[in-house]
Amino acid sequence: MISAEPPSDEPQRQQALDRLELLDTPAAPYLDSLTRLARELFAVKIVLISLIDRDRQWFKSRQGLDVAETPRDISFCAHAVACNDTLVVEDSLVDPRFCDSPLVLEPPHVRFYAGVPLRDEAGLALGTLCLLDPTPRRLTSQELKRLQDMAYLVERYLHLLEQSAQVAHLREALSQAQRKCLLDALTQVWNRAGLRHFLPLEQATAKREGRQLGLIYIDLDHFKQVNDRYGHAGGDQLLWECARRMSTAVRSQDVVTRAGGEEFVILTRVMDARELLHIAERIRQSIASQPIQLENEPIPQTLSLGCALLAPGETPEQALKRADQALYRAKRNGRNRSELAD
Ligand code: GH3
Ligand code: MG
Ligand code: MG
Repeated sequence: MISAEPPSDEPQRQQALDRLELLDTPAAPYLDSLTRLARELFAVKIVLISLIDRDRQWFKSRQGLDVAETPRDISFCAHAVACNDTLVVEDSLVDPRFCDSPLVLEPPHVRFYAGVPLRDEAGLALGTLCLLDPTPRRLTSQELKRLQDMAYLVERYLHLLEQSAQVAHLREALSQAQRKCLLDALTQVWNRAGLRHFLPLEQATAKREGRQLGLIYIDLDHFKQVNDRYGHAGGDQLLWECARRMSTAVRSQDVVTRAGGEEFVILTRVMDARELLHIAERIRQSIASQPIQLENEPIPQTLSLGCALLAPGETPEQALKRADQALYRAKRNGRNRSELAD
């Protein structure tokens, strides 16, 4: 295996990537939609938006792969970034750069790779949009053009993100090292520590906006059965997909967290209980309306949800407890439903 040499402009490149503040941030529904579409369009097993960091590649979006990052020295994308050009490997087994790579010899057994660099405004390659598959393959010139067009969409979105107020806000509030500790690696949403971090911040923002802080406590129904039937890995995959759908169902300023196990808490700033219940129902339907596809098998899944509005004089933890109680009422009342706390 031959590791990619860092490009000649590596210090500037790393600086540009750090400035973007994209590493260790939650998954973005827009990018997940694009990678899902690419996976279907090209009929490949894995699609990634990979960012090449100091000693790792970290995935801002991933389809078909269950790890959040892999070492840089075994990365295919590092080669595309090093030459700042599209890289196509039709069969990794006959390519001396990759034939004995652990990514080839062990799962995910990559035989085919195609990666298009994602560049910043100055043209520095930060990462790639890439396709990977366990079967050798050739891309037609038309397919290559399509992949490059999709990479262009990703790239433009990253530029827009850099300028968005929300990202600026996150950048001020949390360093990358802090973010890494607050992010759930499995589902790419905030973890329980993230929830604790954002609760008082969201409370303050809601107050400033003249809104109320809404808390939605969510538990997957009969999730143990999924593990029993499809194994822990199947259960993990289902958790990942649920997190994607929930993130898509809410607004971009809402905070999606995995509170633990198969439980999620969403923080949302609303005008009243009616709006809160409306959002909860949208989340519920995002899961219930369509079975989740696990390795070609559709799994029907539902959620139970408990909602609470933070009351005057109440601590966020007390409101969270009331949301949890409402969730248990939803369970008792038959599951696949939302209940509002007293
Ligand atoms: P209910 O409708 O009452 O909530 O039923 P349930 O089966 O969802 O509830 P229960 O609390 O009995 O089971 C939750 C299961 O979630 C048990 C545990 O093995 C599983 N679980 C927790 N964390 C993870 C995880 O990270 N991955 C996987 N695959 N399973 C997990
Ligand atoms: Mg539970
Ligand atoms: Mg459950």
